[in-house]
Amino acid sequence: MLEIQDLSVKYDTIRVIHGVSMNIKKGELVSLIGANGAGKSTILKAISGLIKAETGSICFLGKEITKLPSHGIVSGGIVQVPEGRQIFTRMTIEENLKLGAYLQRNKKVIAQNFERAITLFPILKERLRQLAGTLSGGEQQMLAIGRALLSNPKLLLLDEPSMGLSPLMTQQVFDTLKILKQEGITMLLVEQNAYDALEISDRTYILETGSIVMEGKSSDLIEDANVKRAYLGGD
Ligand code: ATP
Repeated sequence: MLEIQDLSVKYDTIRVIHGVSMNIKKGELVSLIGANGAGKSTILKAISGLIKAETGSICFLGKEITKLPSHGIVSGGIVQVPEGRQIFTRMTIEENLKLGAYLQRNKKVIAQNFERAITLFPILKERLRQLAGTLSGGEQQMLAIGRALLSNPKLLLLDEPSMGLSPLMTQQVFDTLKILKQEGITMLLVEQNAYDALEISDRTYILETGSIVMEGKSSDLIEDANVKRAYLGGD
């Protein structure tokens, strides 16, 4: 579904992504893990068209999207749930959700997706008219994911959904991702929380200072001695 080949990205003169290749197949949940500053968010930005690739290509559903503007990429079905959630705290939960449907003209599809989002997140359903700023961090993350669902994604990009959340809230958010996966949504999950990301995903790429240093089935990597030592706090 998504094929990234030999991607390099730089900010001004400093190259931060060095020849990264990755792929995601339909229905897969793939995680991208790595330390602070490794370049995970930069890869997501390149996929979403928020930053331009220096070299390399990104193809989605067989079509090259490397040079498309970000609105063209979103309307093609790649939707990002941004780091830090970026919900509108002074708008209601319902208004925030409906903002996700801004590219959708078909009212029936909007209604279906709205229903799906609030069924998935009952906490939002109970509080549709409440201001989004009154939600807890975990609930705001759920709202951000719900809003992304309103735009009918074919591929959902999640940037550190566990950031700033308690272990319990993190668990709830990850349980939601499992349900989305069962529903057939393809996802790329960027996480610093390596253990949870490996547990939930089918395959994982490990990024170090802008290069992929390991990749494989998550169930294999979670047992790997080097991965345990470097990312899982093991010995
Ligand atoms: P984090 O988990 O902290 O978000 P990350 O793995 O997502 O880290 P990036 O945010 O992609 O990493 O950053 C990769 C590198 O690029 C870092 O060295 C960072 O300082 C640098 N960088 C990020 N954004 C910019 C920018 N707008 N201008 C210059 N350098 C940047």
